[in-house]
Amino acid sequence: MVVTLEVLQATPVVALDGVSAKMEAELAKLGIESVLDLLEHFPRRYHDRRNRASIAELQVGQEATVVAEVVRSQEHRRGRNVRVEVAVTDGQAMLSLTFFGQGWRIRQLTPGTEASFFGKVDRFQHKLQMVNPVVDVIGPEGEAHNQSTGVIVPIYPESGKADVATWQLRRFIAEARERFPDIDDPLPADLRARAKVMNRADAYRGIHQPENERDHYQARRRLVLDEFLRIQLELVQRKRIAETTERGIAHQVSGALVDEFLASLPFALTAGQHGALSDIASDMGGPHPMHRLLQGDVGSGKTVVAVAALLMAVQSGHQGALLAPTEVLAEQHHRSVTALLGDLVVPAPVGEGSLFSARPLQVRLLTNRTTPKGRQQLLADLDAGAVDVVVGTHALLEPDIGFRSLGLVVVDEQHRFGVEQRTALLDKGHHPDELVMTATPIPRSAAMLVYGHLEHTEMRDMPVGRTPITTIWCQDADERAVAYERVRAEVAAGRQAYVVCPLVDPSTSGAGSRGDGAAEVKSALEERDRLAEEELKGLTIEVLHGKMRPADKERVMAAFRSGEIAVLVATTVIEVGVDVPNATVMIIESADRFGLSQLHQLRGRVGRGGGASWCHLFAEPTTEDGLRRMEAMVASTDGFHLAEVDLDLRGGGQIFGERQHGRSDLKLGRIPRDEKAVAFARKEAEGLLDADPTLARHPALRAEVAWYLSTLERDDVDFAKVFRS
Ligand code: ADP
Ligand code: MG
Repeated sequence: MVVTLEVLQATPVVALDGVSAKMEAELAKLGIESVLDLLEHFPRRYHDRRNRASIAELQVGQEATVVAEVVRSQEHRRGRNVRVEVAVTDGQAMLSLTFFGQGWRIRQLTPGTEASFFGKVDRFQHKLQMVNPVVDVIGPEGEAHNQSTGVIVPIYPESGKADVATWQLRRFIAEARERFPDIDDPLPADLRARAKVMNRADAYRGIHQPENERDHYQARRRLVLDEFLRIQLELVQRKRIAETTERGIAHQVSGALVDEFLASLPFALTAGQHGALSDIASDMGGPHPMHRLLQGDVGSGKTVVAVAALLMAVQSGHQGALLAPTEVLAEQHHRSVTALLGDLVVPAPVGEGSLFSARPLQVRLLTNRTTPKGRQQLLADLDAGAVDVVVGTHALLEPDIGFRSLGLVVVDEQHRFGVEQRTALLDKGHHPDELVMTATPIPRSAAMLVYGHLEHTEMRDMPVGRTPITTIWCQDADERAVAYERVRAEVAAGRQAYVVCPLVDPSTSGAGSRGDGAAEVKSALEERDRLAEEELKGLTIEVLHGKMRPADKERVMAAFRSGEIAVLVATTVIEVGVDVPNATVMIIESADRFGLSQLHQLRGRVGRGGGASWCHLFAEPTTEDGLRRMEAMVASTDGFHLAEVDLDLRGGGQIFGERQHGRSDLKLGRIPRDEKAVAFARKEAEGLLDADPTLARHPALRAEVAWYLSTLERDDVDFAKVFRS
């Protein structure tokens, strides 16, 4: 019987002889419920039996992987503390392993078990040992030496946590492959030939039981192509449908308001800004709604572009909304939009005579801080069309907010909003145009996956006259002293400074996480007090953190903007958008705890005026990644470049993020590593859908895409019907 992925997904694991009801529960802990889940539980790595490291050759101080068999294991308990001592051998020499606080190892590492151990080698009482090594069980006695296991042994992820050993997974997967040897291959033959890939059933074998490296490489290549092709078919289709069937507003893109606005700017637009505006104008002027992503580095001037787009909607008699992820940012935007739009006047609509006359352009703000009365008034004005542009936070998404005619939605820092949230705002109009902006660039390959349903515009240049920011990595007290000296000198010269406090909670301190919990607040308050007593004694220092009352936040920001405050000690609330050109120095405490794009975004708070600027990173990184992030920050101020480095450091599997899609992250594909495969899949998806918009000529592929779409936990997949019907 030839089976499809859908059938394999519908077949529960208990259907396999080797899987008991109890095992079913354990597998569920690994997220494995169906036979397909099992086949797509890809090995974390492979152990090649051909090159074993020998225990006798180990050196003290070295990090090494050894494959050995357990000779004996013993548990020692003292009060609550448990220690497991394990002796292993590779047939020639012995090695001691000590596990602290991992009592379960006694059950995992029974005599005869073969496993690989990775850790630092040290000496204890004349014996070589490893403390808390990383363990991958290869198999129990007998199983491990079983000829059928092959030379290259797959090691599966997380097999230590649930009560499932890697060798058991190997058995189940082998059984699954025997039971379902014929897996349908829906790839069109010509596509398969162009891609030069093996068929699907071979690929599932090759990924789990590769005969050699080449075999594994080819198997992986095939499965990665499948993964990307499904995603691209979905995204391209979504885009096509929006382009052809949705009817939106054809805005009047050239007109007095936009012209007046552009003429009023005290600077000339960059080439990137010109390009972006012409892309936007051609979309907004057309009958189909725009869905466009605007990418530009920190400080590249995205706001001006967004405002001009908003005016295109306004001069066409519609309204615009600008959605921002935080109150600080929304307020900042409101202030800059109001300042930019100054005294613009909205002309009376043509043909409506004296009923509506020309009036000053109205920009309003809506956050959770808006008073009930103010909110009521705003609601009425939005409804009446008396407000042209509204800037706000999530508060804009409330169901009772309505517009007279919403023509454009601009979403700043797109990644902080979920699909449902964006949709909630778009649904307040009749297919309004949509412009989404990222705070810092994301790499092209990631954008093709995450934002593949959007048109892309990149602004690669910066406004002229920016002086580059000098980034200095401070690793000891002397270097930190130099940084504080710089703060004092700049403040003496009339400039201002930021001190960014670190992420504290260990559970949120990973790269890219966002702090501002109680611990961050405490550290910011303490740092302010300390600096006021020590290094920055005598300067006006204030603190800004996310837990402050909104009114206090606004008071502090206003005082900083006006220059009353010299030094702002802040948590990551200042990360985005804050625009105080007079600030020229930044100190980032424990900088290695932040993700790279977050650091770049933070650094972008300085270097916004004409003066030279500095960013001092205080960091003594303890991890390889932390070290590389610091090096990258010092080496480059190019956000597009840093985005690539960041992706590489993060392993490239986690690109969607929970908020973005109802889909989980990539199963096998990795970027930038598989960048070429993404581009290839994109091109093929476009070709397929150009020639055959509903894949009618490829029923198997069509059925697979329809099934795949149905597995996404997302509610806005109307276009999936195209493949289903
Ligand atoms: P971002 O792209 O990070 O959102 P902003 O829109 O906040 O950048 O712009 C950063 C600063 O650059 C603002 O103060 C803005 O007024 C200024 N700016 C924007 N465009 C230009 C330009 N073409 N020439 C000079 N300054 C500009
Ligand atoms: Mg911005």
